[in-house]
Amino acid sequence: MSEKMVAIMKTKPGYGAELVEVDVPKPGPGEVLIKVLATSICGTDLHIYEWNEWAQSRIKPPQIMGHEVAGEVVEIGPGVEGIEVGDYVSVETHIVCGKCYACRRGQYHVCQNTKIFGVDTDGVFAEYAVVPAQNIWKNPKSIPPEYATLQEPLGNAVDTVLAGPISGKSVLITGAGPLGLLGIAVAKASGAYPVIVSEPSDFRRELAKKVGADYVINPFEEDVVKEVMDITDGNGVDVFLEFSGAPKALEQGLQAVTPAGRVSLLGLYPGKVTIDFNNLIIFKALTIYGITGRHLWETWYTVSRLLQSGKLNLDPIITHKYKGFDKYEEAFELMRAGKTGKVVFMLK
Ligand code: NAD
Ligand code: ZN
Repeated sequence: MSEKMVAIMKTKPGYGAELVEVDVPKPGPGEVLIKVLATSICGTDLHIYEWNEWAQSRIKPPQIMGHEVAGEVVEIGPGVEGIEVGDYVSVETHIVCGKCYACRRGQYHVCQNTKIFGVDTDGVFAEYAVVPAQNIWKNPKSIPPEYATLQEPLGNAVDTVLAGPISGKSVLITGAGPLGLLGIAVAKASGAYPVIVSEPSDFRRELAKKVGADYVINPFEEDVVKEVMDITDGNGVDVFLEFSGAPKALEQGLQAVTPAGRVSLLGLYPGKVTIDFNNLIIFKALTIYGITGRHLWETWYTVSRLLQSGKLNLDPIITHKYKGFDKYEEAFELMRAGKTGKVVFMLK
């Protein structure tokens, strides 16, 4: 194994990142070293790249970025059991404590002491990465690396879409960014119909259609609630899935969902949101789920099986595949401009 590797590193506070050469890290106790085969950019990586307020308060440069990955285990640290060199793996990003009230009740996705891999630790935008063994997920060889790296965000989408019944249900998805697009793929694979998508970007509405959306709406030019009512014979949708983080989309979705319908909220809002609780939630008797992260490890089993089923239409979502990290600046800028679905770096 070479002793040096390239990595996309947040070298200092401020905008951007650098492609650097650093030592290949050594796995410590309870850790493994993986060779990265594919890794993808998440919205969180963009925030770190842009150095927004959240990143300034959380990230301590110098640090290797990235957390979505498919890789191969190449070295095992002391005390690690059940993982072998050659295992083909991905990584859950929530490093949970296993000891708090939430963890002891099996609610690991809301662990009170969660650390985030690639946010609070060095990540996977590198040729090799050290990963806590407790966060390793083993992949079947049949899933190609460019899909296997998407499992972490797919877990967000799965928890959002599958928080309640979906087969044969009418669905409104607001926001067709990378996560909303994955949500469309999961909803279609799960038998939802019709899947209606509201998204202002022309480029992303086109992607939504390619992934399988039955109807697309431009919320900046059309009346979302009226369009949804027209499509659903005036009933509204059974299920409303919020993937945009836009307060307006939240309000429109709550108006467009049928009384006693189901709502799952994944999008994160820029601040406090004002909603007419009486008329849009209470009198409508809605069931609302807040979605955070993924269930460990139940969601990973679901995601893996959905991938193995071949029913997830992911190819239109992977709009950019780069060989190596050389063009990382182009990749980040395209994604910042909303001109991508998922962006994947292939290192194989
Ligand atoms: P993104 O910003 O790339 O996508 C959001 C999309 O919503 C964009 O395509 C945008 O054009 C669209 N949009 C903007 N205004 C809209 C409106 N009024 N109606 C409909 N669509 C509108 O983000 P992403 O990476 O796809 O993530 C989606 C959301 O999920 C973000 O808010 C992100 O912060 C959040 N998120 C939450 C969790 C969690 O655990 N809860 C995890 C990851 C991401
Ligand atoms: Zn915990």
